[in-house]
Amino acid sequence: MGHAGGCLCGALRFRLDTAPTRVTHCHCRFCQRVAVAGFASLAFSRLDNVHITAGTPSIFGHVSTGSGAKIQVHFCENCGSAIQNVPMRFPGITGIHLSAFDDANALDLPNIEAAHVYVGSARADTILPAGVPIFKEHGMAHDGSTIEPIILSHATPARDVAL
Ligand SMILES: [Zn+2]
Ligand SMILES: [Zn+2]
Repeated sequence: MGHAGGCLCGALRFRLDTAPTRVTHCHCRFCQRVAVAGFASLAFSRLDNVHITAGTPSIFGHVSTGSGAKIQVHFCENCGSAIQNVPMRFPGITGIHLSAFDDANALDLPNIEAAHVYVGSARADTILPAGVPIFKEHGMAHDGSTIEPIILSHATPARDVAL
């Protein structure tokens, strides 16, 4: 049971026991660089729902200039693929890279609450979807209060979204 995944070379394997609680597509510069992509798609879960089934992740801790908080990137020392971003801001929580799952489509993504965050640093050509909450930065202020999202009526390039 659960959802299996791993790094590119297969030395590092994991299993998520439960469905993720939410999916966050993060466009901050930290995530762009870790994901080697326009943004990172992270499935959030409690850290103790993730079990490493092969290998041992290397861990690199770095402060994200987006949130000002330290994030630990768990990655394969052999091939360099990141499997998790573990935010120190939210103890006990992990963001598993959707790209690391063997079959991310098995996660029933359309029915999991999602958001695009740090769109203020999104690449200009990134197409943002309609109907999904979008935030200039994080969806939660540092004092824990929630921030009103932008909801687009049609898919729009990031450069055309008024933040
Ligand atoms: Zn690997
Ligand atoms: Zn990020």
